[in-house]
Amino acid sequence: MGGGGDVRAGGGKRRGLPLRYLSQSESLSFSRPPQAGCFVRRTDGKEAFPMAELDTDVRAIRGIGEQRAKALAKLGVGTLRELISYFPRDYDDRSASRPIALLEDGETACVEAMVAAPPTLARARRGLELVKLRAVDASGALDVTFFNQTWLKSSLTAGETYIFYGRAERSGNRRRMVNPVVEPAGRGEQTGRIVPVYPLTAGVSQLILSRSVRQGLDACRSILPDPLPDDVRQEHHLCRIGFAYENIHFPASAEALELARRRLAFEELFLFTLGLRRLRSRRDTARTDPFRPVDMERFYQALPFSLTAAQRRCVDEALADMRSGRPMNRLCQGDVGSGKTMVAAACIYFCVKNGRQAALMAPTEILAQQHYEGLSALLEGLGVRCALLTGSLRARARRDVLERLALGQTDLVIGTHALISGGVEYERLGLVVTDEQHRFGVGQRAALAAKGSHPHTLVMSATPIPRTLALILYGDLDVSVIDQLPPGRQKIDTVAVSGGYRPRLYAFLHKQVEEGGQCYIVCPQVSESEDAPDERKAVTEYAETLRREVFPDLRIAFVHGKMKPKEKEAVMSAFAAGETDILVSTTVIEVGVDVPNASVMVVENAERFGLSQLHQLRGRVGRGTRKSYCILVSDSKNDETRQRLRVMTQTGDGFRIAEEDLRLRGPGDFFGLRQHGLPGLRIADLGCDAALLKEAQSAADALLARDPALSTCPATAARVEELFQQKADTLN
Ligand code: ADP
Ligand code: MG
Repeated sequence: MGGGGDVRAGGGKRRGLPLRYLSQSESLSFSRPPQAGCFVRRTDGKEAFPMAELDTDVRAIRGIGEQRAKALAKLGVGTLRELISYFPRDYDDRSASRPIALLEDGETACVEAMVAAPPTLARARRGLELVKLRAVDASGALDVTFFNQTWLKSSLTAGETYIFYGRAERSGNRRRMVNPVVEPAGRGEQTGRIVPVYPLTAGVSQLILSRSVRQGLDACRSILPDPLPDDVRQEHHLCRIGFAYENIHFPASAEALELARRRLAFEELFLFTLGLRRLRSRRDTARTDPFRPVDMERFYQALPFSLTAAQRRCVDEALADMRSGRPMNRLCQGDVGSGKTMVAAACIYFCVKNGRQAALMAPTEILAQQHYEGLSALLEGLGVRCALLTGSLRARARRDVLERLALGQTDLVIGTHALISGGVEYERLGLVVTDEQHRFGVGQRAALAAKGSHPHTLVMSATPIPRTLALILYGDLDVSVIDQLPPGRQKIDTVAVSGGYRPRLYAFLHKQVEEGGQCYIVCPQVSESEDAPDERKAVTEYAETLRREVFPDLRIAFVHGKMKPKEKEAVMSAFAAGETDILVSTTVIEVGVDVPNASVMVVENAERFGLSQLHQLRGRVGRGTRKSYCILVSDSKNDETRQRLRVMTQTGDGFRIAEEDLRLRGPGDFFGLRQHGLPGLRIADLGCDAALLKEAQSAADALLARDPALSTCPATAARVEELFQQKADTLN
């Protein structure tokens, strides 16, 4: 068979990869095709194959040096275990070859063909070198062109048979492929099998990953501890762990892949359930002094409105928790605008009247500020001494607040992360409320909880979770749902438009402002990371253009995540006070800010937002008596995107939207498990694996029933500990 190793990186599905990926593959053992029995070098230089430790550094793998180790670290891969647990996101079925003559235009396929004559090298223009060849099988001929892979000229030999995998183009009777994957027939590494497709990062190609995983698996497949107890595995017809890891990466067949996937998904859900059950049982054993009943009428009388039945129910549930003698650990879930703040206020009042302190933690300074203003106005009159503690307080003021907290002279403190930073002492903390908890992790909750002896915790979330799944996600919490909006809320008219509509959109905004309303315009954050420079640029430039060219007569302001908290606050309070007509912003306004006079929410590049996020944004308007509108601007022609935006125009029900989001977007990390501080699910799919989840849950419960301490299955216990411990320790 053909002499040299002659393969390139990248598979058919990743044709669009920039060229730099291609050249990187060269250095990975080009002259050294992978042999069976690669060994793994340990950092101490000793050969470890076949018994490498799972926590061996990935640099022990052949072909992984400092640079690639760095790139892999970005993917969360630093050890052998992490490497073999880095699962493909997809697969390419390259097991069958097609006769050349049957290739359709645009079809991606494998062809097994012989190189008919020595490949030729041509220089098209400076820096672009083409290797061309003709390959034939019994049915016809295929012209193959490679760009900038000059080495292929000498490594592809006339008269030898290779497998070419790529997208075929056909004009008339001629067929050709550009930059196909190629390897000698019979090698079966990148063709002739189902090939894994990994999520990549710059500096790591598909080929590097799959070869590294191959070595990693060979080194530790036989010593993988199985976190599934054998009887559970048998009872639920699940394959062994070695088989599962082998076939999730390198499926022997579609059936083997499904067996592997099912087993790994089950394992994940099983361990997840065990972990959540453990969290819950820990708290079930905690005890606290029961709170006394309090005359709540005084509180209710002080409100400018009466609570909805749903709000009342949530308050009653929370109060019952606090009187039970066990620490409350409750999630209060309610759509935007459902009035969660008042539920919190009632709980705070109840706590303070029991002689204890309460803390309310908000995800942003703006929101903390707003809560402080609203709640202190209400509660101070009822004898609750309130304070605001944020990162932007001056040293002196901060010291003051801290002192009064520690002395018990403050009853309610409202703030951001500053509430859990070191140095914050409470005299008698009794209740911790976190608002919009999807921004806080379990770790943060735990750190705050540690400040009091088992304070009650109330977590408020506007991220609607389909009911069936709330229990999984919040397995360690009790859940109350506010399933009713305060009376008099109007439907927010929502439309999805394309960019061509902008002139009319601007005219509409102008009219709204003339009528006394205010508008938000949200631009997407270009990058996820808070410190992306383009975010600031997008917002400031947009605002500048509006100011100069579109609305010279209106008052325009902007706000983005890179501004100092003080600046943000100033902009937001000016907007809230009606001193600004149009506020251009990123999603920093997504969470909870209340400006009842705002009547229009415009979202630019709406396709870049998840449905639930759009729903949150929309919830910023329609909070007062003004008829309100949400306008989603998108030029996307993508069917799925259009369908998603259509959902927004059809319903205002956050739960329905969440379900649609789940259905359309697929689960992945939809629920932001990691943001919740729970181990993310890599394989299991909460959308599709509902039946498997039930099975795994009942298996977990059955195991706990006969062995609550998991003493008969140490591998299981160790893995649960590992998965959940890590998370509870990190305060991000
Ligand atoms: P969210 O659940 O989004 O946090 P808020 O607590 O901010 O909602 O409440 C939204 C708005 O509704 C606020 O302006 C609040 O004063 C008002 N509100 C809350 N409860 C009621 C009620 N029972 N009746 C009328 N208005 C209410
Ligand atoms: Mg809120």
